[in-house]
Amino acid sequence: MSAGGFRHHDVPVTSPRRRSRLRAAALVVLAVEVPVAAALLVARTTSSAQALEPGAHAFIQEHPDGTPVTWDPCSPIGYAVNWDHAPAGALELLTDAVDSVEDATGLTFQAVGATRVSPTSASAVDVLPAGAEVLVSWVPTADEQLYRDGEALAWARPVVTGGVYTRGQVSLDADWFAAASREQARGVLLHELGHLVGLDHVDDPSQLMDAGGSRGRVYQQGDLEGLAELGPRSGPRCS
Ligand SMILES: [Zn+2]
Repeated sequence: MSAGGFRHHDVPVTSPRRRSRLRAAALVVLAVEVPVAAALLVARTTSSAQALEPGAHAFIQEHPDGTPVTWDPCSPIGYAVNWDHAPAGALELLTDAVDSVEDATGLTFQAVGATRVSPTSASAVDVLPAGAEVLVSWVPTADEQLYRDGEALAWARPVVTGGVYTRGQVSLDADWFAAASREQARGVLLHELGHLVGLDHVDDPSQLMDAGGSRGRVYQQGDLEGLAELGPRSGPRCS
């Protein structure tokens, strides 16, 4: 792990096609935000270039109409936890982080209990307890090559079926979490839950969804704008 911050590994095997779609989406976002940016520049005469993009965020996948792929907002996202290697305080840490995602998106989560399902199995989410769509687990460094190699300290992956996310995994480096401060742990968990609900990385160190690491330990403006688009307040609605 470098001294500069965390490194995350996530789903994204980014195809050229997807890159161009994301870039197009970023342009749309920028265009929409021009009035806000202009207002910021007027208000802060010493503002940096960062003021031009007050809401940097990106989505892992988008529909042809440009709206982000997300979870069904009409039913709770059931999650099961493998606590075998969880750090002290893990329940409160996870509960608080899930609350933050619920507040930011309007999506709802439901804890459906513990599981001993092995998180290292690619098909782990297929054998979860009834009602669980997501597996959250702490994995010993030695058991995950990405952690062993120092390539990452967590990853998250939502799985899309029929245009909505229906399954997912959040994997967390147990050894790193055991040694991390509460704030560091919260930042990484929030970052990964951001991926789970559909946020991709942005190239903006001020945002929690920055690829290289999260100086902020909670969601920032761009993160929150993206999360809001993934929920029923601005995305798909329940009838
Ligand atoms: Zn990430």
